[in-house]
Amino acid sequence: MLQLFGKERMWRAHELKRSYDVVIVGAGVHGLGIAYYLGKKHGLRNIAVLERSYLGAGNSGRNTAIIRSNYRTAEGIPFYDASAFRRAWLESFVQRVRSFDGGA
Ligand SMILES: Cc1cc2nc3c(=O)[nH]c(=O)nc-3n(C[C@H](O)[C@H](O)[C@H](O)COP(=O)(O)OP(=O)(O)OC[C@H]3O[C@@H](n4cnc5c(N)ncnc54)[C@H](O)[C@@H]3O)c2cc1C
Repeated sequence: MLQLFGKERMWRAHELKRSYDVVIVGAGVHGLGIAYYLGKKHGLRNIAVLERSYLGAGNSGRNTAIIRSNYRTAEGIPFYDASAFRRAWLESFVQRVRSFDGGA
């Protein structure tokens, strides 16, 4: 993919190593999240994330970015409430997002 207002490529091909401890297929929010937490929480450093297109090329780059519990099934509502709306989780998430944009 090219940058929106430039002709420079946003991504480049990397030469692959002979082996990795973990290989993840797909650089969407799940693949990148797994890679991030394997590094942060478990100290793994030899991880490959293989993406056939560009980062976020799938659902992750096309969604409406809303955190909510609107899945209208009896099973879905408590699942989303428990996972997304825990106050501590949400607060730390917001702080991390702010730290990326300079605290604005
Ligand atoms: C229009 C739309 C609106 C949405 N709105 C919301 C919302 O408001 N809130 C919300 O919580 N969720 C929303 N979602 C759902 C959410 O975006 C997805 O559940 C989430 O992004 C899925 O992430 P993922 O990493 O599993 O998959 P994806 O983001 O789809 O990532 C999969 C990646 O794998 C790559 N890939 C596939 N096959 C291969 C292969 N063989 N080799 C290498 N790479 C491969 C793809 O190119 C892609 O980049 C929305 C989805 C859509 C489409």
